Amino acid sequence: MSPPSLIDVHPNLAGTAPVALSYELFPPRSAAAAETLWTTIRELEATEPDYVSVTYGASGSNRDTAVDLINRLLLETTLRPLAHLTCVGNTPAELAEIIGELLDHGVRGILALRGDLPKDGSQPASGSLRYAQDLIELIRRVEQRRSALLCAGKIAVGVAAYPTRHPESPSVGHDVEVLLAKQRSGADFAITQVFFHATEYADLVTRARRAGVTIPIIPGVMPLTSLRRLKRLGELAGVDPSVELMERLGAVDTEAERRRIGVNATVDLANAALDAGAPGIHLYTFNEHAHALDVLDKLALPRAARPTSRLGANARRQEFAS
Ligand code: FAD
Repeated sequence: MSPPSLIDVHPNLAGTAPVALSYELFPPRSAAAAETLWTTIRELEATEPDYVSVTYGASGSNRDTAVDLINRLLLETTLRPLAHLTCVGNTPAELAEIIGELLDHGVRGILALRGDLPKDGSQPASGSLRYAQDLIELIRRVEQRRSALLCAGKIAVGVAAYPTRHPESPSVGHDVEVLLAKQRSGADFAITQVFFHATEYADLVTRARRAGVTIPIIPGVMPLTSLRRLKRLGELAGVDPSVELMERLGAVDTEAERRRIGVNATVDLANAALDAGAPGIHLYTFNEHAHALDVLDKLALPRAARPTSRLGANARRQEFAS
């Protein structure tokens, strides 16, 4: 018989783990959007998220603005970026170069995605990677080549997961097989597509665990305050918005009422996901902070206190020196 594990009985390792908090941002499309985004970034930074993810256009359509934003987050804020990267339409050589560039900037988290296929039905260029799984394997190969440079932190690779069937997939069972394949290729965690019913998240986790998926599956939650956005998102992500929520939002006249209904619905959804064992909450912000902060205030997440921030400590050191 093996001796009892000292790790299991250690008091600091008992009880509930802290819940991760993260936000999704997208690179700005104009100077005016960049200004608004930076107000949002400062507001969100004050809530000390564990990371912020930065989206990336399919085929690298916004590569420069995405890399610029990530670089500024690293240099000018205390935030830790998780860089989305899509592989559709890009060759392994092109992607290896981008991965290297991200690592050179100091990025240590990459969300490996395929990206949406071209809307005109054309096929991606020949020689480009086909699935997110291929991108994960490429990231791990680049990482291996740079092992000696990464002694202070290897790459955390995330992937997409789907509480409702991916539009191109034959079944939710197939989606779970794909998630398992992505885990086997080296994924460390998954973030879900938006969903509107907590049971969809709980059922995904049950299916995934039964199939052998062990990585954390973090629910992606969007503040559900705008009818227009709900509909647009439904089209973009191939997820049917909740009819009941759309009716409730459509039945009220003022922005304040829509905000109250939407924020409460989002908080209920996030709380139900946490009750189902979610290890964190990833908020899709649409580059706006107000509704995300409303949701956060009402959620009261059990979060670990962070030691003094890097930038705060630097500022204090400079104060003492002057
Ligand atoms: P994959 O896992 O490759 O799956 C794509 C399709 O192929 C699925 O139908 C899957 O079932 C099937 N498939 C996968 N592997 C296999 C296999 N081995 N054999 C057979 N079939 C297979 N898009 C962007 O363009 N930019 C972003 O920044 C972005 N961020 C996102 C963030 C999150 C959290 C999520 C959930 C999605 C995001 N997307 C983004 C959208 C995403 O790119 C699309 O949903 C895309 O259609 C699929 O991407 P994937 O990484 O899940 O692809």
